[in-house]
Amino acid sequence: MKLEKSIELYTKGKKHLVGAVNSPVRAFKSVGGVPIFIEKAKGSKIYDVDGNEYIDFVLSYGPMILGHRNSVVEKTIKKYLKNGYTFGASTKGEIILAKIVCEAFPGMDKVRFVNSGTEAVLSAIRLARAFTGKNKIIKFSGCYHGHSDALLVAAGSGLATLSLPGSKGVPDEAVRNTLIAEYNNIDSVKNHLKKHTDIAAVIIEPIAGNMGVVVPDSMFIQELRALTKAKGILLIVDEVMTGFRSKFGGAQELLNIEADITCLGKVVGGGFPVGAYGARNEIMEMVAPLGDMYQAGTLSGNPIAMACGIATLKELKKKNPYNDFEKTAERLEQILLEAARENGVDLQVNRFGSMINPFFTKEKVTNFESAQTSDTNKFKTFFWKMTEHGVFLPPSQFEAWFLSTELSKRDLLKVKEAIKIAMKAVADKFKN
Ligand SMILES: *Cc1c(COP(=O)(O)O)cnc(C)c1O
Repeated sequence: MKLEKSIELYTKGKKHLVGAVNSPVRAFKSVGGVPIFIEKAKGSKIYDVDGNEYIDFVLSYGPMILGHRNSVVEKTIKKYLKNGYTFGASTKGEIILAKIVCEAFPGMDKVRFVNSGTEAVLSAIRLARAFTGKNKIIKFSGCYHGHSDALLVAAGSGLATLSLPGSKGVPDEAVRNTLIAEYNNIDSVKNHLKKHTDIAAVIIEPIAGNMGVVVPDSMFIQELRALTKAKGILLIVDEVMTGFRSKFGGAQELLNIEADITCLGKVVGGGFPVGAYGARNEIMEMVAPLGDMYQAGTLSGNPIAMACGIATLKELKKKNPYNDFEKTAERLEQILLEAARENGVDLQVNRFGSMINPFFTKEKVTNFESAQTSDTNKFKTFFWKMTEHGVFLPPSQFEAWFLSTELSKRDLLKVKEAIKIAMKAVADKFKN
């Protein structure tokens, strides 16, 4: 395949951009080769600067759940653009999006919009500390909650891929109040609770998506909710990835739990930079201007971003694609497992709703440790063969693949052919 123009842009880009990218996972470091530069996208397809066409499973890491350039969404954005881009004052769109979001999450009376998932989560942590008057937080290894200091420990995909233990530039003091527990292991949480009394919150991805897809055991998540409630510890459910992905609303409803604070991002902005955190009134009333927890933003609730979010969520509600997502994901799982079996490749497939990914390992993947048994070299071979055959995947073993409403039966047939070829390439290269 031709990637000449991507190579050229990469070479140029390196001069004034760090690694020619603005987010490290885009650098293709874990799969080698140069990052592919994108020209445009439409529906289920994405096109690079060399004119190669791909079926897109990255979908901007989640937001493009309706596929690219949905016509209703695009019309709405264009309409709002005519009124101006940002005012530094309130607009009606913020109220409309807030209503849609609060009605979709039973535990949310009020919401605050911010500009990214990172911002949503770091604000939620500050809020939990303000509300409880306590400082420590528990996070699970392999879960990613954005790049704020306190949460850059044992943090999944980007970091796992780059094999960084955390990050340079994060002072010890910033993570001193962060305790690490193991996903799907309630005893690891109980042990912290025995030792520490000043715990403000436990934060979790309800379906982990940043160590690859890892689904929580139902006992584990129920116990976690009961335990935190009993101790007066807030449960922060980070639905930045899962929000509006597996149902209209959050994964917490499917898991039969209710968060104290919910974080959103990705789908909620439909492709524009929007994050959000929300909770019941008692908690949200701590936030300025009602309370003394300060949090602000020049572009927060940006009118174009709100318009895009509203149009995306309205379309999503109308289409109600969630049963179809389930069926498509199931079919994709079968295809992957069949190809693996035919070629004698060890493979696990984890999925939930419209998130799915294969792990090149024999071991069942239930936490960060078992995810790490995956053979990333096999993934690398698989990734480039898939790319060559027109399928755009996240360039890391530890990222979820996303489905959109635009993925057609015909697309899926093409994906199936690519998977067969890619799996055979893995088998040929890694003969035992
Ligand atoms: C993507 C993600 C974030 C960070 O969101 P950004 O918009 O990239 O800052 C936080 N938490 C989870 C679960 C995510 O998937």
